[in-house]
Amino acid sequence: MDCLQSIDNITPPLPDAGADFTAWKHTHDGAFTVKSAYNIISHNIHSNPCKVWKRIWKCDCPERIRYFLWKLSHDCIMTEVQRKKRGISTQDICKRCGLATESSTHAIRDCVWVKGIWEKLVRRDMWSSFFNLDIKSWVDLNTSKNWGYTNDGSWSSTFAYTTWLVWKQRNDFIFNNRNINASCLLNRICTEIHNYKEAAVMDRKVNALQNSKNRSHMSWQPPQEGWYKINCDGSYWYNSDDISCGGVIRNSRGEWITGFSKKLGKGSVFQVELWGALLGLRTAWELQLPRVVLETDSKLVHNFITSGCNISNPFLHMAKEFTELLSKAWEVDVKHVHRDNNLVAAIWLFLLIIIVMIVLRNNNGDLVLIAAMQITVAEALAIRRV
Ligand SMILES: [Zn+2]
Repeated sequence: MDCLQSIDNITPPLPDAGADFTAWKHTHDGAFTVKSAYNIISHNIHSNPCKVWKRIWKCDCPERIRYFLWKLSHDCIMTEVQRKKRGISTQDICKRCGLATESSTHAIRDCVWVKGIWEKLVRRDMWSSFFNLDIKSWVDLNTSKNWGYTNDGSWSSTFAYTTWLVWKQRNDFIFNNRNINASCLLNRICTEIHNYKEAAVMDRKVNALQNSKNRSHMSWQPPQEGWYKINCDGSYWYNSDDISCGGVIRNSRGEWITGFSKKLGKGSVFQVELWGALLGLRTAWELQLPRVVLETDSKLVHNFITSGCNISNPFLHMAKEFTELLSKAWEVDVKHVHRDNNLVAAIWLFLLIIIVMIVLRNNNGDLVLIAAMQITVAEALAIRRV
C-alpha cells in the first residue's frame, strides 16, 4: 500500500524538462549546501543524544552558565593543568592554595578555598560521592539528582551557579588580585540565584502577556465577499517518513465548502506541504470557485508557488502545474500566514488520520489484533461502503 502511495506521489517526467542531471536530495531545490549536509549528520548524532548534554541545557540558569557547565563536563576550562598541557605555563600548581595541581575538579570543587562552600550547600550524606567523582560524572549526577538541601528540584540550578561563580572568583584572584572570601561568595551565590528566579518569573509573565496579545491577531480571518479561502497543511511522521496532506475550503462567512486529504507514502516535509497546496488548488478549480485565497504556513512553499524554481529542482513538475493552475481563468491570491492562522488545516489533517485496527474473535471469544494501519476519512468511508 505504501509503495502504491509513493508511486502515486510521483508525477510523470515532463517532456521539456531536459536531460537527466545530478541533484542533492536533501534540499528542496536539489542544490547541495553545507548546511543541509551538516543537518543530516547532526540528525544522526542527535538520534542517539548525549544525556549529559540534554540535562545541562535543561538547567534553569543563563545560557552562559550552561555553556560553562558543558565545558567543565568536558574538562576543557583553562585551569593550570590545561595551561601547562598547551605550553602556556611551566607549572600546574594551584595558585590559590599551592597544595595541589589545579585540575578542573580541584579548581571548582576540591581547593581548600571552595570546599567549604560546597560543604554548606551539599547534604552531608552525599559528601563521599560528591567529593570523589570524576568531572564528567560529577556534572552528570549533579544535574540529574538532588544532592543539595533544597527540596524544590532546583539543585541543578544552584550547582550550575556555584560552579560558575567559583570559577569567576578564581579568575578574579589570579588576574585581578582580588581577595578570596568564601562567606561573601556563598552570599553572592544565594543572591544571584534569587535574582535569576525573580527575573525568570517576570520574564514568563511578560512573555505570556505578549503571546496573548499576539494570539489575538493570529486567528483565522474569512476572505472578502465572493472569495473562498483554502487552508492546507501536511503531516510528516519522523519515525517512518510517512507523509499525508489535507486542507479545508471555506467561504467569506466562514462556512465549510469542502475538505480534502491524501496519503502520500514516503517523502519530505517540503514535499507534503507542496502537495497540500496543490490539492487545495486542484479541488478549488474542480469546484469552479471564481476567486480563491490559498493560505500556507510554509514560507518555502509560498515562494515556490509565487516565484517558481530552477530547472534542477526535483519538484519542477509541480511548479509547472502550479503555474498552469494560476494562469487559468480565475483569481488566486497565495498568502503566507502564521501557523496559528492555519490551525484549522492542521486540526482537519489530524482528524483525517485514523488508526484502524482489524480485530477478530478467536475460538475463546477473545479479540485478537490482526493488523493496524493509518487511513484517511475517505478511505474509512470507502471501507464502510464495502
Ligand atoms: Zn587550590
